[in-house]
Amino acid sequence: SARAGVVVTGTEVLTGRVTDRNGPWLAEQLRRHGVDIGQVVVVGDRPDDLAAALRFLQNAGVDLIITSGGLGPTADDLTAEVVAEVLARPLELDPALHARIGDIIERLNRARGRQTEPSAAAGTRKQAMVPQGAAVLEPVGTAPGLVVPAAAGVAGAPVVVLPGPPYELQAMWPAALAQPMVQQALAGREELRQHTLRLWGTSESELAGLMREQAEKLAGLEITTCLRDGELEVVSRFHPVAQQRYDDFAAMIVSTYGDAVFSVDGGTLEEIVGRLLTEQGLTIGTAESCTAGLLAARLADVPGSSSYLQGGVVSYANEVKHSLLDVPVGLLETVGAVSAEVAEAMARGVIARLGTDLGVGITGIAGPGGACPGKPVGLVELCVLGRGSRLARRVQLPGDRADVRRRSVAVALHLIWR
Ligand code: ATP
Ligand code: MG
Repeated sequence: SARAGVVVTGTEVLTGRVTDRNGPWLAEQLRRHGVDIGQVVVVGDRPDDLAAALRFLQNAGVDLIITSGGLGPTADDLTAEVVAEVLARPLELDPALHARIGDIIERLNRARGRQTEPSAAAGTRKQAMVPQGAAVLEPVGTAPGLVVPAAAGVAGAPVVVLPGPPYELQAMWPAALAQPMVQQALAGREELRQHTLRLWGTSESELAGLMREQAEKLAGLEITTCLRDGELEVVSRFHPVAQQRYDDFAAMIVSTYGDAVFSVDGGTLEEIVGRLLTEQGLTIGTAESCTAGLLAARLADVPGSSSYLQGGVVSYANEVKHSLLDVPVGLLETVGAVSAEVAEAMARGVIARLGTDLGVGITGIAGPGGACPGKPVGLVELCVLGRGSRLARRVQLPGDRADVRRRSVAVALHLIWR
């Protein structure tokens, strides 16, 4: 089946100041169209590095190359120039495009109550330069995208040039996909299905052993596992002919691991908790110490969470645990803030203050400091109180501060789900 490679440009992405959203997004879109992604290469705003990345993908034999970023009007935006050079297709001014970009900029400036400065003219002209033989994708912002055919007389992958801002790239993608050059490059592709199972508290090596034993039954399935915050994610990719094999594999996992399989349709933990709360018509409030709002934030990641998430209290200091959640001062002084008693009192307090059906209390030691005798870094106490129900856990979580805080949230969500 067809394969594609992506070049993500931008020094801000290379250095990690901005997390790449375009590579993963394009990979998922292509997968839906039956196209496998071979490589995502990240390069800074340096022409030589971009040229080298394009040549690397050409030599890797991909059917389509996609670039993101570097289409703006400024001097450090040089993707179009470099693509033109690598594909030996000189840039030419597209007068009609030039006029359209001028109109867009004029309109944007008018909306902001500004004059268009004469100094902007060079940038506008630059954005209207199109490699010979390329198709233009209409701008979503001010930058047009391009579909550039391989060098004349050379069998190679066409290059789709898209803007960097994820919103612009995503809006332009359907037009890119519809281009005959792109359709032709991806011809002969076959649908590639992807299904995700999620398990809680299962060892990755145990599952790997099981898969080794069953290897011949799994032929035709490309299965990858990933362990993240105590969750084991099992992603299977396959062509439609292997659907029955996948169904058998999923059934085997469910019968082997039972309740540990909490998602069979790719739904995330917060989505599943959200579905459960919605079905049961329950509301929830959070009382968070070491996670300081992460649980509430993750619940709120789900659209429509306002129907069950009432709110939360970030009660980092003991005074706040007392003043906002009515945790008794005596309890804080005797058993200490990180204790099962305080986690429960926090959960009870948030139910009382917010009037929710469920309350979650989390208190722990995220580290690196803050440990005391009997209470090491990574110790977290959790409690979920409901109408007449109480679920509490003490966990000792591995990892650094960020790991402990994220994993605490995962444990809390699993407690809510139980
Ligand atoms: P512009 O006309 O906005 O300059 P551009 O095509 O030149 O468009 P870039 O300059 O590469 O785009 O990126 C503009 C901004 O878009 C970046 O500063 C960053 O915030 C965001 N962005 C770019 N690439 C990515 C990416 N791969 N993932 C997430 N955000 C990105
Ligand atoms: Mg730019």
